Amino acid sequence: MKIRIITFLLCFIGFSLFAQEVSRSFQTKYVVILVIDGPRFSETYGDTTCQLSPILCDSLRYQGAFYENFRNNGPTYTVPGHTAIVTGSYQRISNAGTSLPKNPSLFQYYLKQTGAPKSDGFIVASKGKLDVLANTKNKKWHDQFVAATYCGPNGNGLGYGKDEKTFAKVTELVTGANAPHIMLINLLAVDVYGHAANWDKYKESITACDAYAARLWSMIQTNPSMKDRTTLFITNDHGRHLDRVKSGFVNHGDRCEGCRHISLLVLGPDTPKGISIKKEGELIDISKTISTLLHFDMPSSKGRFLKEAFKP
Ligand SMILES: [Zn+2]
Ligand SMILES: [Zn+2]
Repeated sequence: MKIRIITFLLCFIGFSLFAQEVSRSFQTKYVVILVIDGPRFSETYGDTTCQLSPILCDSLRYQGAFYENFRNNGPTYTVPGHTAIVTGSYQRISNAGTSLPKNPSLFQYYLKQTGAPKSDGFIVASKGKLDVLANTKNKKWHDQFVAATYCGPNGNGLGYGKDEKTFAKVTELVTGANAPHIMLINLLAVDVYGHAANWDKYKESITACDAYAARLWSMIQTNPSMKDRTTLFITNDHGRHLDRVKSGFVNHGDRCEGCRHISLLVLGPDTPKGISIKKEGELIDISKTISTLLHFDMPSSKGRFLKEAFKP
């Protein structure tokens, strides 16, 4: 009997806290997730000189909330990493883009619950294979509430395109009259030059992405609908091996600290400026955080609301 009462009380307290969180009002009406594909923490925020990421690491960081210990705790490959972001659960999914995530994505929950047109959720990716993120194998959701996509050089889900072209599509959407309320962007150059074992180009690409992130944030502020109403999440799908692990920066995909330790910077109207968070956060938390900010339910997400990054 005692146990039952305690269980009931705990459930009640849990529900009250949840209800409080859900009923909170946020300034955020738009969300953008920028995924910089595969840099190591040691070359980005982990380098205290901020040499390669002068804007993110030394300036934008102090305009938002930064997770010092943000992780990919699932398979550290591109499609699995992005799948964890959009579905809120880790799974072993083909990294070739040949199968769909087993759970519906935050885009699908959002589009269903708001009745918004599909172009209100948009995936713009340099890697064509990321087109799979818009759909799911789940029978109840398959082919329904599928977000708009522009993945790969021709936007048709095939091949690898240049980040410049991807960013041109992003610019068109962010500066347009009907900017999507949820957008995910993938930029590939860092990862591609890493795999090519080109250390100089790998480093140059980190700096190029630093500039893209800054341009994106300032461009958002030029759109009257998005200005002061947009939360931007800047993160990675995975890192790369530490120098002493296998081929070092050239590859990724295991559980080493270099592959797992990534970054998250949150910028937006509901986020305090200049805070550095020690508590661990992980990729699956992003979807639950977005569903909380935009007030839709995402029951299949296993993540948590990243409350440290938002004003109480
Ligand atoms: Zn990747
Ligand atoms: Zn590794």
